[in-house]
Amino acid sequence: MKLCRFDRDRLGLVDGDRVRDVTAALDALPSYRYPLPEHDVLLANLDIVRARVEQVAPAAAGVPLDSVVLRSPVANPGKIIAAPVNYQTHLDEARANADIHHNNPLHTLTIQTAGLFLKATSSLAGPGDGIAIRWPDRRTDPEVELVIVVGRQGTRIGRDRAMDHVAGYTIGLDVTTRGTEDRSFRKSSDSYSIVGPWLVTADELPDPGALDLSLSINGEQKQASNTRHLIVDVAGLVEMASSFYTLYPGDVIFTGTPEGVSPIQAGDRVVASVAGIGTLKVAVR
Ligand code: MN
Repeated sequence: MKLCRFDRDRLGLVDGDRVRDVTAALDALPSYRYPLPEHDVLLANLDIVRARVEQVAPAAAGVPLDSVVLRSPVANPGKIIAAPVNYQTHLDEARANADIHHNNPLHTLTIQTAGLFLKATSSLAGPGDGIAIRWPDRRTDPEVELVIVVGRQGTRIGRDRAMDHVAGYTIGLDVTTRGTEDRSFRKSSDSYSIVGPWLVTADELPDPGALDLSLSINGEQKQASNTRHLIVDVAGLVEMASSFYTLYPGDVIFTGTPEGVSPIQAGDRVVASVAGIGTLKVAVR
């Protein structure tokens, strides 16, 4: 199932090049009071919402996907987790290019020694929201990444059980200001975590370790690789993240970007694709 959030918090079922408005299925969610839970409410109740979506979808109005504004399919992730240098080819290019590494001491580390990092949840945006360049005078790159969406709470999750904790997948742009500051600072400006265009449930992507992914800027391809080249794979990232903290439904894990990272500026159009998920189109301003 492909679920999106569109326009003003409408829930959509993606059906080819159309989207059915299944917002009525959200009535299946429990009501919450302050203080709100650590998890994303939709992801924590995905099974009952899915069942309700199946019921209301046949009678739901469908509109062309091109006519709606796509938001992040996860509205309230408790954490935006991200993997640094998780493709050898990107590690190689970063080490070779001072415009990328800026002599930041982190660039000498591998993912096994650097661990993961967090991005501010306030940096979350959907493809329809666009990227707002925060520092026009500094190099800013949108990194295409497969994104894992956590569906079940867990901590110290072994790799053998890791996939049981994955609700599905989506595409991410880990937008990055290059420079000397800490990663979480440079990658957490508003709109610098683009997630979308929709959530593909895990049953539709049984092998996330063999997906072509690519990114183009203004129609020119810049990045093209396959998730089989991930240094730490999906199960390994769930294991690694949960070895340090509890994962909650709705937490998202950016899995890292391959080589070819390239700068953008206001007016550019970014298109990113991951096989089996879809295509993300984002305007830069
Ligand atoms: Mn990245």
